Amino acid sequence: MDSFDVVIIGGGIVGSSIAYHLTEQGCTGVLVLERESSQGKGSTGKSMGGVRAQFSIPINIQMSLYSIPFYASFEERLGHPCGYRPQGYFFLANSEKHMAYLRANYEKQVALGLKAVRLVSKDEVAGMYPQLRSDDIVGGSFCSTDGFVDPYSAMMGFMACAADHGAQLWRNAEVTGIALDARGVCAVETSRGQVATRTVVNAAGAWAAQIGKMAGIDLPVEPLRRMLVPTEPFDQFPHTAPMIIDMSTGFHFRPEGRGFLLAWNDPEEAPGFNTNFEDGFIEKILVHAADRVPVFENLAVNPKRAWAGLYEMTPDHHPILGPAPGVPGFFLANGFSGHGVMHAPATGKILSDLILQGRTDLVNANLLNLQRYAEGRAIEETAVL
Ligand SMILES: Cc1cc2nc3c(=O)[nH]c(=O)nc-3n(C[C@H](O)[C@H](O)[C@H](O)COP(=O)(O)OP(=O)(O)OC[C@H]3O[C@@H](n4cnc5c(N)ncnc54)[C@H](O)[C@@H]3O)c2cc1C
Repeated sequence: MDSFDVVIIGGGIVGSSIAYHLTEQGCTGVLVLERESSQGKGSTGKSMGGVRAQFSIPINIQMSLYSIPFYASFEERLGHPCGYRPQGYFFLANSEKHMAYLRANYEKQVALGLKAVRLVSKDEVAGMYPQLRSDDIVGGSFCSTDGFVDPYSAMMGFMACAADHGAQLWRNAEVTGIALDARGVCAVETSRGQVATRTVVNAAGAWAAQIGKMAGIDLPVEPLRRMLVPTEPFDQFPHTAPMIIDMSTGFHFRPEGRGFLLAWNDPEEAPGFNTNFEDGFIEKILVHAADRVPVFENLAVNPKRAWAGLYEMTPDHHPILGPAPGVPGFFLANGFSGHGVMHAPATGKILSDLILQGRTDLVNANLLNLQRYAEGRAIEETAVL
């Protein structure tokens, strides 16, 4: 039987980053198991690729303060591109409540060491992007080191670099079971045979709960469909624009190729594995788009180019990281709730630290453990979006 120090289930950006960070710390007996014939068929290949440090909860800011500089130096460190484009994230507030929220977040972000964030006045918003309808805007918040990456390239770069340092990736290798003995995890059953190991990482994205069940762990991670709409080439809005978020509706968009990528989280969406794109969504999103950016009335959209993927949602919309209680050797890297690409570098660092040293200095990882739900320590949502 093959034997590995660490077996990672799932070859998306999170599993790949963990593999990279493990090998970087000298652990080379790493196997990544991916059931598909190629990487990127889960959420990573469907993502919008947004990366931001503008959060309200300190642990998210801290994870971004590791991840974004990591992406900025990705090519230098790994010898592969990740497509980082620091075009910023621009939150537009149209109520005093939203502005107070941005102001409070700004204070926290600066206190934790974020330098590139600033508050923007109502007049400045109108001056920066006259195409935006700004009659109801009271101000905003902009961070120039936020921006976008190419999630597929980053995932492939992480995995290639891990492989250069001894890690293995098995494709077409579906995990069907996890074997336990008195000491904890002892093997993983796969469609390519059994693999012996004392350490398993669940990095199975939206399918994480199924993997949890194999080890007797009840994992509160639910799939939730998200749809994205790319536009045809459009030159009436600058392509140097940041990700712009209309806080009144949650509509957001960013440049993509010669057009734009439009996103909006439909509050009517119910949890489930459905990844069909619904044509009716286009009309809904275009109403929000033209409301905030009147020239977007002239946008052309080809429904065949639109797509849907899955968020992996937890009850408090924060990830579940670290050792699973009661199952020695079983680690969790799940439930990123829409932030798995931007937090993949920090997750790789945290998980590799916890696996190899039993502790990490990057964040207080206890805040993100699974026990927080049973112990009444779920992270309080302050987001007003
Ligand atoms: C439309 C959309 C937009 C998004 N936008 C952003 C964004 O702007 N910024 C951001 O940070 N995040 C964004 N996200 C979220 C982000 O894409 C995810 O959080 C991230 O990709 C999760 O990575 P992962 O590696 O955990 O999961 P995945 O990429 O889904 O990888 C999990 C892998 O596990 C494999 N797997 C599952 N079960 C098994 C099994 N039994 N055996 C073997 N392999 C298995 C799957 O095949 C899959 O390849 C977006 C997501 C969507 C859908």
